[in-house]
Amino acid sequence: MLERSFYNILGCDKSYTESRIVVFGAPFDGTTSYRPGARFACSAIRNESYSIETYSPYQDKDLEDIFVFDAGDLELPFGNAEKVLCQIEAFTAGILKDGKIPLMLGGEHLVSLGAVRAAVKFHKDLHIVHFDAHSDLRDEYLGETLSHATVMRRCWDLVGDGRISQFGIRSGSRDEISWGREHVHTCFFNFDELDHIADALKDKPVYFSVDLDVLDPSAFPGTGTPEAGGVTFHELLKAVEKASGLNIVALDLTELAPTLDPTGASTSLACKLLREVLLYVYK
Ligand code: MN
Ligand code: MN
Repeated sequence: MLERSFYNILGCDKSYTESRIVVFGAPFDGTTSYRPGARFACSAIRNESYSIETYSPYQDKDLEDIFVFDAGDLELPFGNAEKVLCQIEAFTAGILKDGKIPLMLGGEHLVSLGAVRAAVKFHKDLHIVHFDAHSDLRDEYLGETLSHATVMRRCWDLVGDGRISQFGIRSGSRDEISWGREHVHTCFFNFDELDHIADALKDKPVYFSVDLDVLDPSAFPGTGTPEAGGVTFHELLKAVEKASGLNIVALDLTELAPTLDPTGASTSLACKLLREVLLYVYK
């Protein structure tokens, strides 16, 4: 059984056995192509959580009243993406095996692949709901098949056509966007089609992956690849509320790079969003 982390995220101090959601950090940014720093996100969020309330006025719910375990951060080998993914997969599989929902804090977006590998073994008809500025559908990037820029393509390798729904997308190469039209569902720029997709997914098992750069850089500059024209915090919050109605079996929040925003506002936003996500997903 996992032991409680001493330095846990605020309100996530229940025991492993009694918890329904298990939060853990995957502090890896080894394939970041532009501005690194996502490896520092989990510890920054954990530290920042002491600045927010456990109570959500949006939902009239409190983290104190739900059962969430913070397992701390994985110790990951930098420079070896495949080994990192194996470790994440094994850890995620352990949580799924115990009938709990893993919530992984990145890290860069590639870490999602490790958790999806685990989830697809437990749920053969796994679907992926993906919020991001970038489609992440390249087959390779800078000669690497494992990259934050290829993560959804590698997920597609596992789940196949029609199982990935992307929202908020506003960047990608001509090739990857045209490939995406054939193989995934992409809602560009916003969450307008989320209701429609949510109806279609009903009780299907869903992996929910949030690349925080889906937000506009004015609200969230602390990220490796900021992309203008993003959604607001409230738009994201509404979308998370809708997505939480799905049968989410595992999820992640990735791509906060706290040191790239010296004001601290990005970390503070991520932390608040984490509180809302936990309260929405916990049922
Ligand atoms: Mn991404
Ligand atoms: Mn992105």
